[in-house]
Amino acid sequence: MRRGSPVLNNSSGPTTSFSTNRHHLPSQFPADHPRSLKRARTVPTFKPPPRLSATLPRFLSKCPSGHDLVVKYVNILVVRRGQLVKDELWVHYVNIHQPSKPSSSSSSAPSSASSSASPSPITTTTTKSSDPLSKHKIGSWVIGTILCPEHRFWNAVRRRDGTNHKPDYVVDGGGSLVSSGFIDIQLNGAFGIDFTSVDITEEQVHKVSEGILSHGVTSYLPTVITSSHDTYRHAIPTIAAAGKNPTTAGANILGLHLEGPFIHPMKKGAHPIEHITSPELGMKTIRNVYGHLEMVRVVTLAPELPGSFSSISGLNTMGVCVAVGHTTTSLSTAVSAVQHGARLVTHLFNAMSAFHHRDPGLVGILTSTCADKIHYGIIVDGIHVHPSAVKMAYESHPMGAILVTDAMCALGLPPGRHMLGKLEVDVIVQGGHYFQSTCTTSSCKTSSTTSFHKMTGGNRMKAVLSSDHDTLAGSVASMDECVRNYKAFTGCSVVEALAAASIHPAMALGIDQHKGSLMPGRDADMVFLNPKTLSVRATFVSGVLSYASTKEWEEQLSIF
Ligand SMILES: [Zn+2]
Repeated sequence: MRRGSPVLNNSSGPTTSFSTNRHHLPSQFPADHPRSLKRARTVPTFKPPPRLSATLPRFLSKCPSGHDLVVKYVNILVVRRGQLVKDELWVHYVNIHQPSKPSSSSSSAPSSASSSASPSPITTTTTKSSDPLSKHKIGSWVIGTILCPEHRFWNAVRRRDGTNHKPDYVVDGGGSLVSSGFIDIQLNGAFGIDFTSVDITEEQVHKVSEGILSHGVTSYLPTVITSSHDTYRHAIPTIAAAGKNPTTAGANILGLHLEGPFIHPMKKGAHPIEHITSPELGMKTIRNVYGHLEMVRVVTLAPELPGSFSSISGLNTMGVCVAVGHTTTSLSTAVSAVQHGARLVTHLFNAMSAFHHRDPGLVGILTSTCADKIHYGIIVDGIHVHPSAVKMAYESHPMGAILVTDAMCALGLPPGRHMLGKLEVDVIVQGGHYFQSTCTTSSCKTSSTTSFHKMTGGNRMKAVLSSDHDTLAGSVASMDECVRNYKAFTGCSVVEALAAASIHPAMALGIDQHKGSLMPGRDADMVFLNPKTLSVRATFVSGVLSYASTKEWEEQLSIF
């Protein structure tokens, strides 16, 4: 059935189109997965803010205040119990502005209101008419969550009052692979916009949020690197405000990632050395430097600096995820940092002491006794980390892997000179990468590597300091490209590659009860992919179609 075919609501008869044995645990992982059980208990949790879509006015005409709506996506591949299977996906939408039944946002709630075959359009409330973005500020929210059709069916049976259990619309997914939307926990900027800027604006942040939808990213952490006090005092509250006021269609801003300035000068990478410092007085120093900690979700620091351990404890108590990075730390100090509450490693292998067999450094934490408490970000752009090292990390600790782009403002821009903070950065084309030049490992001779070449081509862009072309300054890789690279470099399954961009970051941030998988009750953040090439066909945020790669896919997947 093509594009949003409405279903004639008919409550007679208990027949359903789903298999009753496939929806009990529609998890991305096996239910007995050890890390999926531990993570939620060890990381402070927070509820991501709801978001507002530019397509909301049209959507709300289908989902008026006080009503809900159910859409079933068919002819798709989804992850069930760690496997890709052909199945269907149900999404439950509710307008939460004036819900008639607040409990209806539950994934298992009966949907009596959805029996309305032709919901009447509603009148939206526009605020601040002088604001150019006011057309999007309509005072209502649509929340799309994954629905368990079995619960819906049996609730309808139990009620025995004619409650409808069928979907309002059925959408043909065209054989797409549907994954939970990607979550990028380290993004410095894109499309010419640098988050580490003393004059960053909310509109610029929204522009990035919109642009990365084409990469399958539905949630992210804008990342601010080592900066001056003035930059922190402007950028942090501005980005936080953009996250709390999502006025246009775009990926969710889950909060900020502050990378530095509490890092080791010897591992500064592209960070300006004049602003690097130590958190000597713990949280007092941190508050003084940042000035504003609201919406801060991740702080990257070097644990060997004075005051780091008390800072880690203090940030952890606040619900901030502490990442260890840009560091010369020994393994024992890194383990102590984990014991104080650190839960992340920032861009593994980059800006840290190199692995040595007698002194493994931070890299050794992947096989340490505290490995099950740690996730690690890794930049799989084919530039920052050798494919062999990516595979080594995967083999050592596959469940800890988090794909990060660490992309900078030149993401989405052509080669040339750009700004990263106050640094000049050159984006240059590197003709050929590790596969073609230096990699001689057996893994690089696999068929998956060959297919990678076919998918991405030989040339790659990389960002380096203008003053030193040997120093990388952040990547220009998109998240969907990193997913494809990760699969090719490691030989992992598609499910594992997708997990490293979805459920793993959600677990690290403590939001896996809301995002990162397509289990019932989770936010309907979805990316529709070509099942063979893993290229993005469409991206949904809160169940609302927010990006389509072609007009044909927009028509195919829209319910309008
Ligand atoms: Zn960095």
